[in-house]
Amino acid sequence: MERQQMRPLRLVLVPCPFQGHINPMLQLGTILHSKGFSITVAHTQFNSPNPSAHPDFSFLPLPDTLPDHNSSTGDLVAFVWELNANYKARFHECLAQVMEQQGLEDRIACVIYDEVMCFSEAVAMELKLPSIVLRTASAATFLARTSILQLKAEGYIPFPESMSQDLIPELYPLRFKDLPFSVFVTLEDLVQQLSTFTNIRTSSAIIWNTIDSLEKSTLAKIQQQCQVPIFPIGPLHEIASASSSSLLEEDSSCLAWLDKQSYNSVIYVSFGSVAFMDMKELAEIAWGLANSQQPFLWVVRPGSIRGSELIEVLPKGFKETTGERGYIVKWAPQKEVLAHDAVGGFFSHCGWNSTLESICGGIPMICRPCFSDQRVNARYISQVWMVGLELENELQRGEIERAIRRLMVEKEGKEMRERAKILKEKVELSIGEGGSSKNSLNELIEIIMSF
Ligand code: UDP
Repeated sequence: MERQQMRPLRLVLVPCPFQGHINPMLQLGTILHSKGFSITVAHTQFNSPNPSAHPDFSFLPLPDTLPDHNSSTGDLVAFVWELNANYKARFHECLAQVMEQQGLEDRIACVIYDEVMCFSEAVAMELKLPSIVLRTASAATFLARTSILQLKAEGYIPFPESMSQDLIPELYPLRFKDLPFSVFVTLEDLVQQLSTFTNIRTSSAIIWNTIDSLEKSTLAKIQQQCQVPIFPIGPLHEIASASSSSLLEEDSSCLAWLDKQSYNSVIYVSFGSVAFMDMKELAEIAWGLANSQQPFLWVVRPGSIRGSELIEVLPKGFKETTGERGYIVKWAPQKEVLAHDAVGGFFSHCGWNSTLESICGGIPMICRPCFSDQRVNARYISQVWMVGLELENELQRGEIERAIRRLMVEKEGKEMRERAKILKEKVELSIGEGGSSKNSLNELIEIIMSF
């Protein structure tokens, strides 16, 4: 249902200031704007979104109150914890001001906040506004996170090394080692944070960037335990395909290079916006790519190599050896890359956005999860949807070369590619007329309009 002829309702979105969270929130904003809602994005100054990329939105910068944060050292969990401690009062003040100025023509219908920006829920309640949560990780990750709390209470974790390969009862295909622990915080702190982030108090609904056909039984299980309706309306990037919310400048020159490569031949390599590696791992990837003889497009993000700055970090002789066969960028237009005909495989850290983008491109994956939900996603990619293979041991050039050849040229990879195409078609059906995501989106809009 389009709302163009009706009184516009304003939605206030509160994204978490990291790329993997900003993207789905702004995509959601684009979708809801296309349905007739006005959109205000309340954001931190740190990693602030670019207003000129979203001329239809209003932006509400929250005054920066962050103490010396350590997001650059990768301590993201602590950083988000600090955000919650520091932004509540500011958000309350800014939102109250907006409400004072609003007319009946432009009233705020609700606050939609990233699940980790939970101070927004409290502020919405104080200002008597309804609120809705956006979850940007998979449903399986949510279930695994709540299992950490339960397993801890039952005394199963911390677990001994000898149990790390054991399957967790009721959580197939996850093993203890796949649980989404953080490398950044102690178990005690993680448990405290998870119980805060997963506990909904007053919000009216949950929007999920996932698809019913991908996570049907997991979503059903969560819905059974949940008091409020869940709306799996993903993949958001596919529904809001035109918008870009990149914090780094995308180097689109790689698309012209891809145009010159043959169909399905290129392995795309990227580990997202947060993961990092050391020089040794970088060298192993470099020589694995070089020795595979396969064309490759590789994103080497500035700051992602511990103790070093960009391209000079590549091993001596690597560029001469690979020549025109390889293309390296600091940041790629990833959605376009994964939708390009020349790309036949994705060597990925398995962030949830990257996973969805790969599925939508019908691209099988080599999974190299680094931390948190990436391990859960990698297990689903390799064991449930069977559209990828996982590199579990220390990165070694020989194993990387072998994995690339398995994925890109061998029968096993061909079969994964066929399954990936089938998955892609299922996802396309879900966002089409009568599809599950489309239906959920319509129901979500009904709820928002009833506020
Ligand atoms: N991305 C991009 N260009 C790149 C690498 C990543 O635009 O060179 C985007 C990617 O399309 C995805 C997001 O950054 O939407 C990364 O999110 P994800 O959940 O995959 O991983 P995270 O960065 O949160 O670990």
